[in-house]
Amino acid sequence: MALMTAEEYKAKLDDGRVVYYRGERIKNVATDPNISTCVNTMAVDYEMAHDPKYKDLALVDDPELGEPVSRYYYKPQSADDLLKAYDLIVTSTALADGYIPLAHDIGSDALNAITITAHMMGNQDYMDRAENFRRYLKKEDIASCAAVTCVKGDRMLRPSDQEQLHPDYYVRVVDKNNKGIVVRGAKVHITGAAYCQEIIAVPCRQMTEQDSDYAVSFAIPPNTKGITQVIRPFRSSLSSIEFPNERPLRMHTDSLIIFDDVFIPWERVFLCGEWKFAATMVYNFALMHRRTGCAYRVPLSEQLLGMAKAIADYNGVTKAAHVREKITDLIIYLETLKALSKAACYDFVRHGDMAVPNPVTTNIAKYHFAHNYHDVVKVIQDLSGGLLVTAPTFKDYQNPDTHDFIDKYLGAKKGVSTEQRLRMLDLIRRMTGADLETICLHGEGSPMAERMTIWMEGAKVMEQCKRLVEEMAGIK
Ligand SMILES: Cc1cc2nc3c(=O)[nH]c(=O)nc-3n(C[C@H](O)[C@H](O)[C@H](O)COP(=O)(O)OP(=O)(O)OC[C@H]3O[C@@H](n4cnc5c(N)ncnc54)[C@H](O)[C@@H]3O)c2cc1C
Repeated sequence: MALMTAEEYKAKLDDGRVVYYRGERIKNVATDPNISTCVNTMAVDYEMAHDPKYKDLALVDDPELGEPVSRYYYKPQSADDLLKAYDLIVTSTALADGYIPLAHDIGSDALNAITITAHMMGNQDYMDRAENFRRYLKKEDIASCAAVTCVKGDRMLRPSDQEQLHPDYYVRVVDKNNKGIVVRGAKVHITGAAYCQEIIAVPCRQMTEQDSDYAVSFAIPPNTKGITQVIRPFRSSLSSIEFPNERPLRMHTDSLIIFDDVFIPWERVFLCGEWKFAATMVYNFALMHRRTGCAYRVPLSEQLLGMAKAIADYNGVTKAAHVREKITDLIIYLETLKALSKAACYDFVRHGDMAVPNPVTTNIAKYHFAHNYHDVVKVIQDLSGGLLVTAPTFKDYQNPDTHDFIDKYLGAKKGVSTEQRLRMLDLIRRMTGADLETICLHGEGSPMAERMTIWMEGAKVMEQCKRLVEEMAGIK
């Protein structure tokens, strides 16, 4: 099968999947008036693959299949491959106004983690299953998502210790036979699951022997019997009180996915009881996905810088010393993120037959982004002034009774129209709300998860530095 067009991708979504939104079951996600916006966002990946301007970036000639396939499913071999994948994520996110299309990237992060784990285990069966599954994704050009985060219950209790409430806070194997396994439990916050074609599930934490049933990884189509999704849109659409905008609206939904005794055939099982390797899989997923996450955030950081400069210019304050200081901080923020993300590709490590971005640099890049994000937002809100939340609405600007007053009194610097200023404030309000603040903090793991990885991965450097000063101090 050749690469899918956006229309072919959408047509395949009418497959009986069980998805609920606002208390009602959605008949077809691709045509539903609310969710189709998200489907169109994911479709950007398919549009790029057929666009002469982006084709070379979106696709790669696959030596095994002898045909072009999505770059995401291709196993990176070099720094150049990693940098091209980074460029692809930055470009597609910028094209979708700061929304990653998500058709292949997060799923490929899970797939790569599965492949690396199978190699580390030295388990030929799992290696073969992972390769067969990859071949299928490439050949059929499948849209996939990664279901990692379990609902988790009491965070301080291990999966097998949650029995006092119920044993299903982490997805687990409840039955096995010669054809496959049966899984029960729920994953949460899973972006794009409602309109992808494969859900790739990976454990979300390290496990002990008692947690063996919870050490499970698999892939399954969303319309499989026993799967129910309850979704919520990430960021609400343009409201009627904001200035209308002709650019296509971009959006995603995040799913609570319930696996109510779902059968998974063995060929789609990638971990089943090997508890020691649950940590390996989630660690490698986090590494891959944090690199992806840093690339998502480059266009967003550019937008943040742009908004700060625009509103400072419109308000006439750009020349003030403290404003220049604050905007300079935003330039440093953006350029540090770009430099660290690229450095992680150049300074890659090798796992099996795959080049993998440098773990320490990747985690520092992601931590830099998440840790400083709220300070960046603070600068923009500071420069915007109170009108950010008190400006009269578009409807009042339209009303002839009030239009001229608003136009006269809410102008600022000469040459900048009131409408221009109010439109920019609408955009800032949309781009700095709680949804984005939360994804920037928690997406790809909370900041503490990045710090823990930096501590673990930094152990060798720490010891070397300690040895260095011991030598300087004459300590043998
Ligand atoms: C918009 C959005 C999209 C997402 N998309 C996906 C997706 O597509 N796929 C996916 O798998 N996940 C996804 N995530 C999940 C994301 O990775 C998690 O939100 C993140 O890992 C944090 O987990 P949590 O939300 O359960 O928070 P919690 O685990 O409840 O964390 C809350 C706080 O508690 C702390 N904490 C938690 N456990 C412990 C502990 N044992 N000891 C000490 N401190 C602890 C954390 O450090 C944090 O400070 C998404 C999240 C968001 C917000």
